[in-house]
Order: sequence, then structure tokens, then C-alpha cells
Amino acid sequence: MLVLHPTSRCDVCLEPYASDSSPQAPHAIPCGHIFCKVCLDTVEPANCPLCRKPFMPDRVKNLHVDRPESADENREPELLEKLVMAWDAEEQELLVLLTQIEEWLNSKDEGENTALRKAVSVLAKFQKLKTRRVDDHRMIKRLKGQIADEDYQRATQSEESKAVELSLMHQIETLQSQLSRTQGEVVQLRVQTSRPGMSELNDLRK
Ligand SMILES: [Zn+2]
Ligand SMILES: [Zn+2]
Repeated sequence: MLVLHPTSRCDVCLEPYASDSSPQAPHAIPCGHIFCKVCLDTVEPANCPLCRKPFMPDRVKNLHVDRPESADENREPELLEKLVMAWDAEEQELLVLLTQIEEWLNSKDEGENTALRKAVSVLAKFQKLKTRRVDDHRMIKRLKGQIADEDYQRATQSEESKAVELSLMHQIETLQSQLSRTQGEVVQLRVQTSRPGMSELNDLRK
């Protein structure tokens, strides 16, 4: 079995090799040098990019390689780092990353990779708080609009509208204090996730 190292790259385009039989997989030519098929298809004339020996383009051999299991084991630090970097990424980008992480975690034992699992759940909570913050802002805006309407009518109306206004003001106050609490929580979550996340990340690298 020939195992592809995770850092193995084609010497011409510097792209990592694929372990399937795609054009990005390693391909050998008779001189023994290996490149990706994409690059071998474009060299003109057909000479080895390293030793210059000519080769027949239709005699290029696709090498069958495997990805080492250990390379996959080590993905936690990489995924954790990606996750920390993606705090403020667009929702779509984040979703792609979370799906990728989830797929990888699904192949692992539930007791393993606790740092990554924790980071994923904190990020999910953070996203929920962010959404709630937007909703709260919207609610406050709507209530303020209602008060403006009430103000306009108050001149001709009874004490009743004053009571309505007071209750609306109260709702705004509640929402605003809830909002500042949420914002505090978000700040705390950020500190929590980046600090322990990064230190655990460093531990993993030792
Ligand atoms: Zn290449
Ligand atoms: Zn060569």
C-alpha cells in the first residue's frame, strides 16, 4: 500500500494530491517522477518537468494511493482553528464548515474530540443569540412606532391611552435590558471560546 502524506503536492502546480483516480491524483512517468495529470497534460513538449526526459503522454500511469488513517485523526486542531477563525464568517460559509466538522465528528467516538465538540456547541449558541439580538432590535423599533402613534392621538384621548403608553414603555425597557444582557453573554462566549479553544489547540499540538 502506498500512502499519501497529507502535505504531498504536485511539484508543478503545488496543489495537494487527490487519493482518488481524478486528474489531481499522482501520476507517474517512465523516468519515475510523479506529478498530477493536469500538469502532465499541459507540458509541451512532453518532457519531465524535473529531469527533462521525454515521455509519451498516453503512457502516463495513475498511481493507486491511500490516505493514512493518522492524517484523519489529526484533524481536530485544524478544524478547531478553522472554527475559531470563522466566528464572523457569512452564515453560508459557516454552515459549510459546520457540516464538514459534523461529518468528521460523526466518524469519531462521542467521548473523543471534546474541545471541538464544545466549540461547535458554543458557536451554535452564539449564532442563536445573534439572531435573537436582531429580533429584539426589530421589536423595539415596532414598539417605538406604536408609541409615536399613541402620542399623536393622546391629545384627544383619555387616561386609558396613557396607561397603554406606560405599558409599552415598560416593554421597551424590559427588551432593552434583555438585549444588553444578551450582548454581555455574546462577549463572554467569544472570550470563552477563543481562549480555552486556543489553549486546548496548543495542547494538542505539543
Ligand atoms: Zn500539478
Ligand atoms: Zn523525470
